[in-house]
Amino acid sequence: TRIRPSSKRCAVIGGSGFLGRHLVEKLLDKGYTVSVFDIRQSYELPGVTFHLGDLCDKQALLTALQDVSLVFHCASPAPASDDKALFQRVNIQGTQTVLQACTEAGVQKVVLTSSASVVFEGTDIKDGREDLPYAKKPIDYYTETKIEQEKLVLKACDKEKGLLTVAIRPHGIFGPRDPQLVPILVDTARRGKMKFIIGDGSNLVDFTFVDNVVHGHILAAESLRPESPICGKMVMD
Ligand code: NAD
Repeated sequence: TRIRPSSKRCAVIGGSGFLGRHLVEKLLDKGYTVSVFDIRQSYELPGVTFHLGDLCDKQALLTALQDVSLVFHCASPAPASDDKALFQRVNIQGTQTVLQACTEAGVQKVVLTSSASVVFEGTDIKDGREDLPYAKKPIDYYTETKIEQEKLVLKACDKEKGLLTVAIRPHGIFGPRDPQLVPILVDTARRGKMKFIIGDGSNLVDFTFVDNVVHGHILAAESLRPESPICGKMVMD
């Protein structure tokens, strides 16, 4: 029989990114041993092992997932990228590869960073809950692939085989080292392009502080058990 790896050994796929790095730092604080798997290394931290590789490469993943019991998958091409083939390859095929590698490596839990946009179809959502249907006409191709990615991860939840999965759906994330949201807002404002109001100015939008997104991910990971209600489900952040 296979010896189960310690539940405190985890890997963060996309751990060089904005959210990933915050997640890594918090996991270290909480006494986890952390491996980062990413196509780039953007920092160094004592206690973190970096594995450079593309998540579409199962062999590279298998090396990084040795003795790992918990995987956070928060890698994605940047939403602003216009490269449909890249979204398809990384978010859909790549996620399939991640799930295969997790099964082969004996990983017990996978926490996916999905997106709140998977239920957004251009009309207002107030007090939205997890039971909203997926958008039939997603706002862009990135979101289309995030929907497929989420379905793949949730479908892979198999209590018999011992692989438990959950998907977290954050909305816009802000906080230290944010490369997108606030810098893009500031840049747009500087260029004088924020002098228009869409609608009557009462539109609302949710943003989540990165530490709270991290907290949600770790809570989900630690509560994920065969009998827990979040098992194989999506959670709005
Ligand atoms: P980010 O671009 O800062 O980080 C993504 C990381 O994934 C990068 O380090 C990148 O190198 C890595 N990566 C990309 N392709 C890869 C591949 N083929 N193999 C291995 N690594 C690869 O993005 P982020 O803002 O930290 O987003 C993290 C996750 O959160 C993504 O899944 C994104 O869809 C989701 N999300 C982000 C926001 C937000 O506002 N930032 C909102 C909702 C959902």
